[in-house]
Amino acid sequence: MRHPLVMGNWKLNGSTLMVNELILALRKELSGVTGCGVAIAPPAIYLDQAKHALAGSRIDLGAQNVDVNLSGAFTGEASADMLKDVGAKYIIIGHSERRTYHSESDEFIAKKFSVLKDAGLIPVLCIGESEAENEAGETKSVCARQLDAVLNTLGAAAFENAVIAYEPIWAIGTGKSATPAQAQAVHKFIREHIAKQDAEVAKQVIIQYGGSVNAANAAELFTQPDIDGALVGGASLKADAFAVIVKAA
Ligand code: PGA
Repeated sequence: MRHPLVMGNWKLNGSTLMVNELILALRKELSGVTGCGVAIAPPAIYLDQAKHALAGSRIDLGAQNVDVNLSGAFTGEASADMLKDVGAKYIIIGHSERRTYHSESDEFIAKKFSVLKDAGLIPVLCIGESEAENEAGETKSVCARQLDAVLNTLGAAAFENAVIAYEPIWAIGTGKSATPAQAQAVHKFIREHIAKQDAEVAKQVIIQYGGSVNAANAAELFTQPDIDGALVGGASLKADAFAVIVKAA
């Protein structure tokens, strides 16, 4: 059966000092804690440093983005093989901040998904609706469209050993998390949507919730049957808060 995964998305935060201090603090907070998967995704420039700081711990390394190209004249990018080479296991793709600030389309994100699978890495596919879409009752159709970009090109089997993060955009960094019932309804929809193509894959795929998860609201979110851990932004920058979330999972 599937295990929950709690992953910290550090976004554009960190320094060499902070990476060492936060990882040291996390290792202390999480020593002896078992049960769910744990990963952190620092900025790409600190991945190698983080890998060394994490050595021998149960915390896996993640990255926040990948380029669709494998090598060559693509200034400023990092390829799937490079991320793998420095020890990353989970790669976040389709985050709403990249969809918005970098104009990433569903098709482009599906291509990233494909490149990661080819490299043997685990995509963490972020999907979720905006506030306006939510108010217009379009939550499910937006999530279905974002999933279909991968399902229709790679098939449901691509979600074997992949992670989905449902992140309503209105909940990200706002302090206004979805309620457990609201999130559960969408997570159930996502699982059923994949089950239409492959019931076994749907049963085992990890579906994280993301959007203002913190030490106070995590436990209740995790009581929901289709919520398998969380993708955590702000609260992942504090070792004590992140540890409370991991323990709740
Ligand atoms: P947040 O971010 O926890 O700060 O809301 C979540 C995310 O963007 O992954």
